Amino acid sequence: MKIIETVVSAFQQNARLVINTNDQNRAFWVDPGDEAERLIELAEDNGANVEAILLTHGHVDHIGDARVLADHYKVPLIGPDEADKLFFESLAETCRQYGLPVKASFLPDRWTQHGETLELAGLSLDVVHAPGHSPGHMMFLHAPSKIALVGDVIFMQSIGRTDLPGGDHATLLQSIKRELWHLDGWRLLCGHGASTNIEDEKQLNPFLQGL
Ligand SMILES: [Zn+2]
Repeated sequence: MKIIETVVSAFQQNARLVINTNDQNRAFWVDPGDEAERLIELAEDNGANVEAILLTHGHVDHIGDARVLADHYKVPLIGPDEADKLFFESLAETCRQYGLPVKASFLPDRWTQHGETLELAGLSLDVVHAPGHSPGHMMFLHAPSKIALVGDVIFMQSIGRTDLPGGDHATLLQSIKRELWHLDGWRLLCGHGASTNIEDEKQLNPFLQGL
């Protein structure tokens, strides 16, 4: 498995292309929030055969160009928990509010549910609901490689903001404790900034002390 990471949007969001190098470079995009043309080129340059678009949550910087890419590749667009529906429905309005180029609102082709296993590009991903940053936020865990796509749940020495609609600080901390605390030895790929691991965050993350 190879993961190509590139920063997109005014919010410096990490878009990721996960490539199954053991199976004909079958691949999927995670959180392609912006700059679709560049992402398409990047996938081509890496010989990736994109089969799906996957979204951790509904915030504009993560979903902005998801529909453009899904339509380009003619592949399924897989969303987070349906509790994030409001962000998809209001994407165009949110762009206007932030003064960004307006992207059309859309809905994913399907939502995901906590506890299900997604089979994407020949890889198995466990779907974990981790609300708090957004109500429908999902994390996607690939157990064979101990890699977790954690979106905006946790960052290196920080956590996701909780002042957006449906956000809740206590709920976010509970999600981190319930779903990440036991992932010793895993690499956490975050929606912004560097990747990290739960051992370091237990020690160094100021938001998690005493948890
Ligand atoms: Zn977010």
